[in-house]
Amino acid sequence: MNKDLIENIGDNHISTNIETPLLPNAFDKSDDEKIENIKHHFAKIMEELGLDLTDDSLSGTPYRFAKMYVKELFYGLNPKNKPKLSIFENKYKYKKMLVEQNITIDSSCEHHFLPITGHAHIAYIPKDKVIGLSKINRLVDYYAHRPQVQERLSLQILKDLQAVLNTKDVIVMISAKHLCVSSRGIKDKDSFTTTIEYDGEFNNELQRNEFFGIVNNSST
Ligand SMILES: [Zn+2]
Repeated sequence: MNKDLIENIGDNHISTNIETPLLPNAFDKSDDEKIENIKHHFAKIMEELGLDLTDDSLSGTPYRFAKMYVKELFYGLNPKNKPKLSIFENKYKYKKMLVEQNITIDSSCEHHFLPITGHAHIAYIPKDKVIGLSKINRLVDYYAHRPQVQERLSLQILKDLQAVLNTKDVIVMISAKHLCVSSRGIKDKDSFTTTIEYDGEFNNELQRNEFFGIVNNSST
């Protein structure tokens, strides 16, 4: 791929697939093996930049970096880390919209590996199943902790909730700042990006407006 096209894909945040592109053998190695290999490669990057890795302050950085990538920032790549989504019978027969809002988004852009930070607001209208509230937050956290594109993150959360709740009536809204927009390239410090994915009852504008009203008037 030529360098102009590479920059173009990054600056326009083009995503090619709803699934995160993974190699078939993505998790053949253990976390410890991955940390050891990434440590080696990141030391090479630091050396290439001209840094002296014998300095006490820098010598542990390749390990810290590798561990942070595998265990923290990108733990959500590995399906074994996916949270178990506890589902309950809707015994109350609650049939109206339930909104879980201000869910923290801590993610990374897959084009520049820089932070994406913001909030998700999610609602669904239960049929026969309801989900433990904190499980929505955990699902968001899981999908956020991969190299991401905001549109794909929204869709991955939406599809999973629809599947597990056995209803199409779900809406996912994410507003987030991208460090690759604020700290490099155009360097716009104030802009942020909002994505909205929905289906089912949320195709109805009145239902969507009820959701937006709650999200916009949030006082907590
Ligand atoms: Zn980016």
